[in-house]
Amino acid sequence: MRLTAQQSLILTDIRAEDRDAIDALLLEYGIRQIADFSGVRRYSLACVALPTCSLAITEAERALPEVIDEFEVVLDELGIPNEEIAIRMTGCPNGCARPYVAEIGLVGRSLDKYTIYLGGAFNGTRLSVPFLDLVPLREIVPRLRPLLAYYRDCATDDENFGDFIKRVGFDHLRQTVFNESKPEEVSGD
Ligand code: SF4
Repeated sequence: MRLTAQQSLILTDIRAEDRDAIDALLLEYGIRQIADFSGVRRYSLACVALPTCSLAITEAERALPEVIDEFEVVLDELGIPNEEIAIRMTGCPNGCARPYVAEIGLVGRSLDKYTIYLGGAFNGTRLSVPFLDLVPLREIVPRLRPLLAYYRDCATDDENFGDFIKRVGFDHLRQTVFNESKPEEVSGD
């Protein structure tokens, strides 16, 4: 068994003739396999936060599954249910789940409130930047929904969410998306 830096568990060196029996066991015990996960859930990551970490200001590990539920609903409504976006959440700014290189980083800032970082690379090779501050937990996904819709409409082929945010820039997003005016054409250059 291998544990990965993405908090995944890989079963390796399984003989082909044993695979069906192992799949049946996983099914019997309610352990979902990779094909059962949406792109946002598969690439989500959280630190332990409350109640394990004494430095935690907010929830992370216990809250992220519901936040991902909300992302899944919104992406489904937008017609892009299989979008793969790296989302990471931590219970304080120490950033143990590496939110600062995520495409969407949610960093606990105050009681039940988070700073939203955007624009990191899907593969973690670029830093994200603070975009919204002190966003209540239940407002995170509604606040990001217009950006996800804009991404659906204006991203180039195969452009990741974080790359799109980086290319378009915060100023453009704040003016065009959050003023609820008609989105401007975004160059693919
Ligand atoms: S990011 Fe903060 S709350 Fe989360 S494990 Fe690290 S120190 Fe604890």
